Amino acid sequence: MGVALFTLGGTISMAGHAHGGEAGPVVTRLNGADLTAAVPGLAEVPLDIHDVDAVPSANLTFAQVLALVESASQAVRAGACGVLVTQGTDTLEETAFLVDLVWPYAEPFVLTGAMRNPTLAGPDGPANVLAAARTAAAPAARGLGALVVLNDEIHAARWVRKTHSTSTATFASPNTGPIGHVIEGDTRILTTPVRHRALDPRTEALDDIRVALHTVTLDDDAVTLTAVAEASQGLIIAGFGVGHVPAAFVDLLDAVAERMPVVLTSRIGSGSVLRHTYGAIGSETDLQRRGLINGGLLDPYKARILLRLLLAGGADRETITAAFAEHG
Ligand code: ASP
Repeated sequence: MGVALFTLGGTISMAGHAHGGEAGPVVTRLNGADLTAAVPGLAEVPLDIHDVDAVPSANLTFAQVLALVESASQAVRAGACGVLVTQGTDTLEETAFLVDLVWPYAEPFVLTGAMRNPTLAGPDGPANVLAAARTAAAPAARGLGALVVLNDEIHAARWVRKTHSTSTATFASPNTGPIGHVIEGDTRILTTPVRHRALDPRTEALDDIRVALHTVTLDDDAVTLTAVAEASQGLIIAGFGVGHVPAAFVDLLDAVAERMPVVLTSRIGSGSVLRHTYGAIGSETDLQRRGLINGGLLDPYKARILLRLLLAGGADRETITAAFAEHG
């Protein structure tokens, strides 16, 4: 059997529609059959196509992604050698990490998209679908969890970020680099990411779990954070640099961390928050003393996904702290 392809919309599947004869903004129009038609070389990879939901990736939910994982699991249990998902790139780093946390199979789960829609010169969708399909079918990619393949680069979901709003080279793994490349059609894995035991998601509890993400900014007086924390069951702080906040925040965070898990991450986009270097009020050592959980190398978006899954699964504070020590 071949690769199970699931399509979710996004730029890769968008085309123009006419406005008074002028080319207008693009909307989702192409299905899996359109996306895979006339891509040179793709016929070598047998595909089993499932058109799921043609939405911009901004509309995706945890529940939809987990339902997709369930469909992909069924495909793998029925003999698919790998899974390929096409979707919008805007939330791809988040959906890929969510999949990675729960995917228990050795079969590769590959996600791809495109930055240049099919109405533009040099659309990248066909090349990305081909490279991603080859990777999904490649024995070399087995056991690596969820992978993001664009621009002939293979990224581990754990490390990948969208780093540019329009460039076709937008996906990068700032902490590690790509784990491999597609070279002359071959999937070449150069280094293997550490894998963790898959989490068992509880989709039915997700609606009750709101995890807020607050990015700290210059002269932030914590009024917004107070309101946000009221409405949440968990909180991610994207702090300055290595995990610092204004001194004006600490009393509030002290109180919030009593009520719910609060995870400290960095707003920088690469690198880790520290654990034992700075001692000022609002520094990483101070915040940990007040009960904040260290997010390590997890960026704020990924930390939010992990925390929401854990809370939906009913994890207690000890389990959550241990999970961030393991994944961060
Ligand atoms: N806004 C689009 C989306 O994420 C962008 C893309 O596909 O690249 O659905």
